[in-house]
Amino acid sequence: MRRHTKIISTLGPASTDRAVIAALIEAGTDVVRLNFSHGSHADHRRAARYVREEAARLGRQVAILQDLQGPRIRVGAVQGGAVTLKAGQAVVLSADKGAISDNARIYISYDALDRHLVPGGSVLMDDGRLALSVERIEGCNVHARVTTGGVLRSRKGVNLPRVQTTGPALTAKDISDLEVGIALGVNLVALSFVRNEMDVVHLSKYLRRAGHRANIIAKIEKPEAVDCIDRILAVSDGIMVARGDLGIEMSISEVPAAQKAIIHKCLIAGKPVITATQMLESMIDSRVPTRAEASDVANAVLDGTDCVMLSGETAVGQHPADVVRAMSRIIRTTERHWYDMPAERRGLPEALHQTNNTTEAVSFAACDLAAHVGAIAIACLTSSGATARAIARHRPRMPLYAFTDQPDVIGQLGLLWGTKSFAIPFQHDTDAGVRVVHKTLMQRGLVREGDVVVITAGIPLGRKAQTNMIHVSKVE
Ligand code: PEP
Repeated sequence: MRRHTKIISTLGPASTDRAVIAALIEAGTDVVRLNFSHGSHADHRRAARYVREEAARLGRQVAILQDLQGPRIRVGAVQGGAVTLKAGQAVVLSADKGAISDNARIYISYDALDRHLVPGGSVLMDDGRLALSVERIEGCNVHARVTTGGVLRSRKGVNLPRVQTTGPALTAKDISDLEVGIALGVNLVALSFVRNEMDVVHLSKYLRRAGHRANIIAKIEKPEAVDCIDRILAVSDGIMVARGDLGIEMSISEVPAAQKAIIHKCLIAGKPVITATQMLESMIDSRVPTRAEASDVANAVLDGTDCVMLSGETAVGQHPADVVRAMSRIIRTTERHWYDMPAERRGLPEALHQTNNTTEAVSFAACDLAAHVGAIAIACLTSSGATARAIARHRPRMPLYAFTDQPDVIGQLGLLWGTKSFAIPFQHDTDAGVRVVHKTLMQRGLVREGDVVVITAGIPLGRKAQTNMIHVSKVE
């Protein structure tokens, strides 16, 4: 059985070579993440070129996701590159830009530090490995005490849990990175540290003004974003449950429930959702995942995630392609068990079936019909990709093929559960559309003569309206 849940691989120092990128694609990578928090523009340009060339050579569809750093707070340069902070020692934190940090005074890149921190508040550094507790604020100096010590290196990330940070959603760096992404024609843009829907709207307007049609993925990594997830989801094209920072900004014990709730909402909204971070973390060094990691991937699949994401595993790990293969095996096995369960135990939300929207109702009916007539595949003629999303949320067992005359939509659907897309010229009549579907699937060896295929479309074709037709045919 083929795999439905998609895999995103993050590129980094361990995966800059053309051969490693080719191996990641061969192993099953569906989407490549270019993480603009690291690497130079030249690195990302070269990586995007290798991805496109190797995907074309291997006959694979691989979308490119640009991940913007967003308003990430960092420590500045540290004297000698690293200092040791001991538990119990006092330090002064300041937003004084020119300052070099040492183990008594640390520069933090957040202008409102002295106004937004309060005594008793905590400051976390380096993914929460170091923790400080705020004691008092004097002028622009924040006096704090180290509660968990360790080595602090230059430019490590800082999290200020429970502080509602202010400032623009897109930093100067993001704007300059976006220009590169737009020139590269990235398919998806992920926005970090989204606080509310206005952050997403801001990026959306920026992309529209630049004439770029990339889909926007809102990274949910702050508790305030979890609190207004419905409003963020309404203006985003997809969501990433960014468990790394989310598990620092809120209690780690809250993250699994937040993950499940967000995936559930995305499933109902028919918008793709990515489950990210530390999925197979131990495979950075090891050739086999832990049992807990295998369960984590499987549970995300059972929750209904569209994609699972690899970060350090493929960016800095020792066995990038092996990790993708391991993830792919876990997904395939889990999906097989899921389909073997009785429908009532699969846990798809009842709300999926309750709709008075024609496209949604027809899409549900197409899945039901496909199962009844033993269809080998479901295909949809879709201009914007909306029908593919409406079908995919019912998680049909058979493959879903989206046929679109909008080339941008192909890359955007790269994230969507179980969907493979094809660019076709605009079809003027339904019979011609059916013939193109049959011919394309036959040529790719995806169906054989006599196979039953269920096809949806909106007629009259070309009118940007609803999907209102289901066609059952035998491939000729
Ligand atoms: C995360 O925090 O989980 C995440 C995916 O974001 P980043 O990799 O940019 O830290």
